Amino acid sequence: MTIYLPSALFHELTVYSRKHMPHEACGFITGSFNGKTEIQADRFISIRNSSSNPARHFTMNPTDLIPVLTDPSLHVIGIFHSHPDAPPIPSFQDLNTEWHTTPSHWILSLLFPEAPSLHIYEIKKAPLTAYRKLPFVICQ
Ligand SMILES: [Zn+2]
Repeated sequence: MTIYLPSALFHELTVYSRKHMPHEACGFITGSFNGKTEIQADRFISIRNSSSNPARHFTMNPTDLIPVLTDPSLHVIGIFHSHPDAPPIPSFQDLNTEWHTTPSHWILSLLFPEAPSLHIYEIKKAPLTAYRKLPFVICQ
């Protein structure tokens, strides 16, 4: 699986995540499948982080997320969140996500704020929790 994302989307994720520091930012990535091996990402939909400890975790605000999940025109292909001061590696809590059936999990690290680092993962829960990095291409 390879993910293609427009450079404008990458830029938007970076700006939005910086704006929410020191809290984790979160939201959905929408897009479409090209066959079974390519995903074209097209849009970021921000969701408020309702975690009681937003500098360490994210919980998507239910009021924000329901309209996205119930809109048949939106195809969620990824869950996005930022790590304001940690590397872009899934935490224990990230791996225990309720969103494991979503095809991709995007983590943007702002550990080095001038050099934001994006990693995209596939997370599987069955039979055992496992994750692997997915390749991605930033395009125009
Ligand atoms: Zn995380």
